[in-house]
Amino acid sequence: MGAREGLTDDAREVRYALGDAWQICDALGLLDGPRSYQKQARGLLVRCPWHDERTPSCSVYRGDDGTIAVRCHGCGASGDALSLVAIVSGLDARRDFRAVLEEGARIAGIRLASLDGSSSSAPRPVRAPRPPAPRDDGPAPLGDDAFAELADALLELCPVAGEPDVRAYLEGRGIAGWAMGWGALPGDRARLGEVRDALVDRVGRDAWLRSGLAHATDPTRGTSKAGDWMFAEHRLVIPWRAPGVSGAVETFQRRPIRATRDGEPKYVATTGRPIRHPYGCEDALEELGDGVELAIVEGAIDTLAMRELVRRHRRPRAVVGIPGVEHWAKHLAMLGELARGRVVVIALDADAAGERHVAELAQALLGKGAARIDRVRPTTGKDWADLTEKKANTP
Ligand SMILES: [Zn+2]
Repeated sequence: MGAREGLTDDAREVRYALGDAWQICDALGLLDGPRSYQKQARGLLVRCPWHDERTPSCSVYRGDDGTIAVRCHGCGASGDALSLVAIVSGLDARRDFRAVLEEGARIAGIRLASLDGSSSSAPRPVRAPRPPAPRDDGPAPLGDDAFAELADALLELCPVAGEPDVRAYLEGRGIAGWAMGWGALPGDRARLGEVRDALVDRVGRDAWLRSGLAHATDPTRGTSKAGDWMFAEHRLVIPWRAPGVSGAVETFQRRPIRATRDGEPKYVATTGRPIRHPYGCEDALEELGDGVELAIVEGAIDTLAMRELVRRHRRPRAVVGIPGVEHWAKHLAMLGELARGRVVVIALDADAAGERHVAELAQALLGKGAARIDRVRPTTGKDWADLTEKKANTP
């Protein structure tokens, strides 16, 4: 691993985006049956990719800085998320650094500005897999149209109304009426398998394996997983759509409806399909008539919660959600378009570090022609969904 002084912004962003121990281990094919890993307080133990072992002794956990740290108690190997991506992908963490970044970005489902169209300047090295290297190195993601077709089929097969516990969860949060276009994976494993089979029938096995929702390949060790759902317990399916009348689904975000276990990610992305537009932008574009404010919240659930609050209080306000305030710059083009000439209400629940991003976002939106920026926070609870849940009456 060695010193990594002068980390580029891209490397920092990828390491930050790979902050979920469960997500990175799953994407790298390290979760391979119940005996292949153990839960830990801040992450999990997996079989070490640096040395051959049957009993997991390699700790993958979230460090104090919010990024993943890796330490093997067997062989002493240590590193960060990118080290883990490198070893599992058969890449050299230093020599093949750019390829490691690209792979990390793909797994995290993010798109890096410097990687767009510039890969040719740094030819991708030929991979020389180092045994033992369990990997789930996924084929190319589906094209947008093919993914949207698969997404529509999934939402049709798995409506929220079909899963009473998911529906009850959304009702409890006060947003069921707004979430009718979302999906719910069956809690019953046999039924979930039937949904998978129906999707394969509809779009073909190749498309299913490239969907970012299923394990694409078999890890080197253990049982066959290709074609199995990744994160089957993340049953609430949230479609993030493109702007435009059709609002094609660009990616899914999923979360469990039960409390998450230690170290388990609350949200999982669709592998290889980054969030590209703010949640709800396709609706906001239609709602933004004269005198309508624009509210910016964090995430899809808060978007719906804020819409519910807006409805209760009859405010002329359109709402969009960005996946995280630290990623505001990626969404600036769309946010700027929506904000031009309007009052913008930034309703992000940010910690101290996030407040710096909020300030930068506010400045950038004024630069894009926003008429005024207001900053509001939930009056009670942690986020806007807590407010709808508690039936409070202050927007
Ligand atoms: Zn080891």
